[in-house]
Amino acid sequence: MTKPVCYSTKAYLTNDAQSPLGAATIERRSPSPSDVQIDILYCGVCHSDLHFARNEWGFTMYPCVPGHEIVGRVKSIGSGVTKFKVGDTVGVGCLIDSCRTCPSCQAGQEQYCDNGMVMTYGSEDKVLGGPTLGGYAQSIVVTEDFVLRIPAHLDLAAAAPLLCAGITTWSPLRHWKVGPGQKVGIVGLGGLGHMAVKFAKAFGAQVVLFTTSPGKAADAQRLGAHEVVVSTDEAQMAAQAGSFDFILDCVSAVHDINAYVNLLKRDGNLVQVGVPAQPLAVAILPLVFRRRSISGSLIGGLPETQEMLDFCGKHNITSDIELIRMDQVNDAYERMLKSDVKYRFVIDLATLT
Ligand code: NAP
Ligand code: ZN
Ligand code: ZN
Repeated sequence: MTKPVCYSTKAYLTNDAQSPLGAATIERRSPSPSDVQIDILYCGVCHSDLHFARNEWGFTMYPCVPGHEIVGRVKSIGSGVTKFKVGDTVGVGCLIDSCRTCPSCQAGQEQYCDNGMVMTYGSEDKVLGGPTLGGYAQSIVVTEDFVLRIPAHLDLAAAAPLLCAGITTWSPLRHWKVGPGQKVGIVGLGGLGHMAVKFAKAFGAQVVLFTTSPGKAADAQRLGAHEVVVSTDEAQMAAQAGSFDFILDCVSAVHDINAYVNLLKRDGNLVQVGVPAQPLAVAILPLVFRRRSISGSLIGGLPETQEMLDFCGKHNITSDIELIRMDQVNDAYERMLKSDVKYRFVIDLATLT
C-alpha cells in the first residue's frame, strides 16, 4: 500500500494509560475531494477524554490524542466539497464517519451505526492506520458530511462543548420528549449536567438538579434548575421519592443509581449518559414494582447535532467554561476528578506552540 499524502501538525497526546499528556507532532491526511481541513481554535475537555486517555474503559489504542468538542475555521476544502467554504466557522463532535447505509445511519443516528461509527479519536483510522487522533491539535481533516456549522455569533470557545456535552444531553431529552408538565431530574453538575439543566429548562420542564457538591447550588439555580437536592442528604432525597417522570444521570463515577430509581414515578425512566468505568449494581424490585426503566443514550446523530447547534444559536445557549492553556490539561483532568469544574474546561489551541 502506498503511503497517503500527509502533513504534520502539533498535538497533545499520551502513549500509555499512566503518563500525562504532552506535546508531539502527528500526521493528518491531506484533504481528499470530500474533505474539509480545519484549523482548530478551541477544544472542550470531556470526562470521556480522561476515561479514554487512562484506558479506564479498556479499549484505548495508543497514541491517544483526545478531544471531540472541536471548533475551528475551514482552512481548505477538497474539490468536491459543497457545504463549506474557506473561512467558515465549523465544529466536529465525537464521530467523523460511519457506514452511511445501515438503518441507523439512514435514520440520521450515525452514532449507533450497525457497522461501527468512526470516533473522532480512538477508532481505527482507515486511511492512515493506527488510531484516529482527536482535537487536542492545531489541525484536523474530516469528511464534509461529519462537519457541523457553528452559528457565527456564538462565543466560539463556549460553543465547543455543545459538540459533545450539548448533544449528549439534548438527544435523550428530545428522544424521550421532555417538556412542559414533566418533572425532570439531572444528576451531577459537571460538563454534561450543566448543559442538561439548560436544555431541560429551555424545553419547559420542571428541573431538579442533584449534586454531591452543596457549593454548586446557587450556580445550578442560575443555570435554570428550579430546585437543587444535595444527594448525600437522605432527608432531601426521601422528600423526592416517586415524583419524577424522567432522570438524566450524568455522573462519571460509580454511584448508587437505585437511590434515583426510587425517585421515579410509575413508568418513569432513568437515562444513563455517564459511563463509569465499573458496572453499577441495580436492585430489580424497585423497577418491577412501578414498571420503571433504566436506559442508556450515546451522543447524537449528525442531523440532531446540527438542530441542537441551530437551537443554541437562536436561543443564545452555550456552555459555562473555564478557558485553559494546552499545557494546563493534565491539571484540568485532576480537577475534573475532584468535581472541580465550572462547568467545562476548554483548551485555547493558540497556546499549543
Ligand atoms: P464531569 O464534568 O467530570 O462531571 C461529572 C459530575 O459527576 C461531577 O461534576 C459531579 O457532579 C458528579 N460526580 C463525580 N463523581 C461523583 C461521585 N463519586 N458520586 C456522585 N457524583 C459524582 O464529566 P462530564 O464530562 O460531564 O461526563 C460525565 C460522564 O458522561 C462521563 O462518564 C463521560 O465519559 C460520560 N459521557 C457520556 C457520553 C455519552 O454519549 N453517553 C458523552 C459524553 C460523556 P456534582 O459535583 O454536582 O455531584
Ligand atoms: Zn465527550
Ligand atoms: Zn451505519
